[in-house]
Amino acid sequence: MSFQQHRRHTVTALIGNVPVGSSHPVVVQSMTNTDTADAAGTAGQVAALAKAGSQLVRITVNNDDSAAAVPEIAQRLADMGVDVPIVGDFHYNGHLLLTRYPEAARALAKYRINPGNVGGKRRDEHFRQIVQVAVDNGKPVRIGVNWGSLDQDLLTEMMDANARAAEPISAKDVYIEAMLASALRSAEMAEEAGLPHDRILVSAKVSGVQDLVEVYRRLAARCDYPLHLGLTEAGMGMKGIVASTAGLSILLAEGIGDTIRVSLTPKPDGDRTEEVLVAQQVLQSLELRSFTPQVTACPGCGRTTSTFFQHMAQDIQGYLREQMPVWRERYPGVEELKVAVMGCVVNGPGESKHANIGISLPGTFEDPKAPVYVDGKLHVTLKGDAIVPEFLELLERYVERRYGSQVPAAV
Ligand code: SF4
Repeated sequence: MSFQQHRRHTVTALIGNVPVGSSHPVVVQSMTNTDTADAAGTAGQVAALAKAGSQLVRITVNNDDSAAAVPEIAQRLADMGVDVPIVGDFHYNGHLLLTRYPEAARALAKYRINPGNVGGKRRDEHFRQIVQVAVDNGKPVRIGVNWGSLDQDLLTEMMDANARAAEPISAKDVYIEAMLASALRSAEMAEEAGLPHDRILVSAKVSGVQDLVEVYRRLAARCDYPLHLGLTEAGMGMKGIVASTAGLSILLAEGIGDTIRVSLTPKPDGDRTEEVLVAQQVLQSLELRSFTPQVTACPGCGRTTSTFFQHMAQDIQGYLREQMPVWRERYPGVEELKVAVMGCVVNGPGESKHANIGISLPGTFEDPKAPVYVDGKLHVTLKGDAIVPEFLELLERYVERRYGSQVPAAV
């Protein structure tokens, strides 16, 4: 059974025009890092994230200027023809901003509330105020608990109760239980305040992989709200990518998670859309969704002392990326294409047979020829200096014949 088939049952929440939960495909989302008050800059980044494949984009709404800018951001996106739902991220003053700026409340497709950050003694009152705005505007809400901003009163209360218990559990377990209690009590309170059950999503993010898995396993066992999954503060570069992938993969493989975000810290002036591509690659590697053709390439070894095949794998990957905007429109299903680029004939033909189209380059001291397999059969053997352009031509023809006419290809 595939990971998709044993997705855990949840209700479906509609965020703008995007269904999240139940058997709907796992939704990729992301968040801007622009100053929301800069409407032009924020709309530009939302559009870039949407173009990269983010199906929901969250923006921080942290002060009057940013709340005032939300309608303009929505208008700019509409003018650009971008219809991605925008989610407002609120902390501390969400109850004030959402009531002071009703146009912003209407323009946002969902509100994210952190129950640990809705205000001191009047927390419940502020929380209900936000929920009331959501009810009045017909919007869903994500109750997003975070390890770093957990409701301290609730944690203290639960730590004290644990200390008095006959058989106390570990402090870490109390912490996890406090996160779950914060999320689920808040969801209950939101429903009591009139928010329908299917307009609530829940997240409980932590920054450690093992903790993430434990928190979400327990959360999934205790509610049927759609779950937003992600490792918070994942970090930069390789560390952030690997840690996020590790945590997300375990949970997604267990059918847990309805929407995901990879919270990467970009390099200074780095590309924010990287987090979207990583999230897509996680889903595609798990065969939960397909976004772009995949290249299988061997790592190379002593049998390939030249870098020729590394360049070729890179060129083919680059070619596929460049073609995708056009191919996506012209060739439905092309995102499921598998291409193999192998360094020699040891594993090359075998791996090529598993791909739609694959090539094995000559290893060191091997005959200077490159067998090409199409749909599991040897199709042609390329020779000479033009192997790469000839292979790309075969690839282009294969795509056109297979996905253009939707009949089996004959190259
Ligand atoms: S396919 Fe050939 S070159 Fe690539 S890793 Fe295997 S033995 Fe080495």
